[in-house]
Amino acid sequence: MPERSSSCTSQRARPVRVLKFGGTSVGAADGLRNVCRIIRDAVGTCHPVVVVSAASGVTDDLVRAADETRGDRATAEAWVRHVGRRYRTLAKEVVGDGPACSQYEPVLQAELSELRRALQGGAGTDASAARDAVMATGERLMAPLLAALLAADGCPARPVDATALIRTDDAHGDATVQWEPTRQQTRAWFREWTEATEIVVPVVTGFIGATAEGTTTTIGRGGSDLSAATLARALEAERLERWTNVDGLYTRDPATHDDARRLHQLDFEQARTWTKAGRLGMHPCTLDPLAAADIPVHVRCTHRPDAEGTRIVPAASTVHS
Ligand code: ASP
Ligand code: MG
Repeated sequence: MPERSSSCTSQRARPVRVLKFGGTSVGAADGLRNVCRIIRDAVGTCHPVVVVSAASGVTDDLVRAADETRGDRATAEAWVRHVGRRYRTLAKEVVGDGPACSQYEPVLQAELSELRRALQGGAGTDASAARDAVMATGERLMAPLLAALLAADGCPARPVDATALIRTDDAHGDATVQWEPTRQQTRAWFREWTEATEIVVPVVTGFIGATAEGTTTTIGRGGSDLSAATLARALEAERLERWTNVDGLYTRDPATHDDARRLHQLDFEQARTWTKAGRLGMHPCTLDPLAAADIPVHVRCTHRPDAEGTRIVPAASTVHS
């Protein structure tokens, strides 16, 4: 068994590993339980920085909510209730009605109020900014939920809103990450975060960032991959682990192609070409920050954490079998 965190362990002595969990990993109770176990085990060997997506399907719901509401109160209210129910149910299924659930409830309420406001839009509100505030809700509800579940499991954790770390331009819906301010903000945040002796796991919202003025932006659908890669580079992480419901990367979609083969290992150049062509199911820019810093990626399966997965590595370390 890996050792648990202890109060005498220096956080700074440990290598940083970014663990990104996609929507299918955190969208149901059994997946969430596995995610907690994976993170707890990681605390034994590294300093995990966790990045989470919204629960599967929620971002699609929020897109529909924004499209359908158009200022109508009753429609907005129905969507707010729908999204709230999804997260409340997840919390209850994982921890029952215990203290973690009651701690989460006020966070949920506050976030739902923001969603209501953003959906209804106010006079003078920029429509594209309001839409990004709506879209950000899924991740903003998930990070505190996962942190509460981890804490209830004896693993100290706190949510972190990525708007404090990831700086973007103001191209709402598909904003571009501005590397230098992001690097500076992220490094300053982590220096402070690791001042305590005890490891506290940060659970960072994927998909979102903020402009220099502090307005929330989203960085494109599937953007949590890019959030995780950006943080991995800023923190000079030893690797990025990308956890999903599939046991690695395949030559074709294994759900629809019987002849799909799992890739054991591939180098950045190959992986980047395929990612940009939309073939590996990752945000097209995910590998850019990692290739620049030679930070390897390990694609792993939440339901089968012992499976080999797929490794994306710098060309020089490729092992030809
Ligand atoms: N939740 C966002 C989406 O569905 C970001 C992500 O999952 O990576 O696009
Ligand atoms: Mg995704």
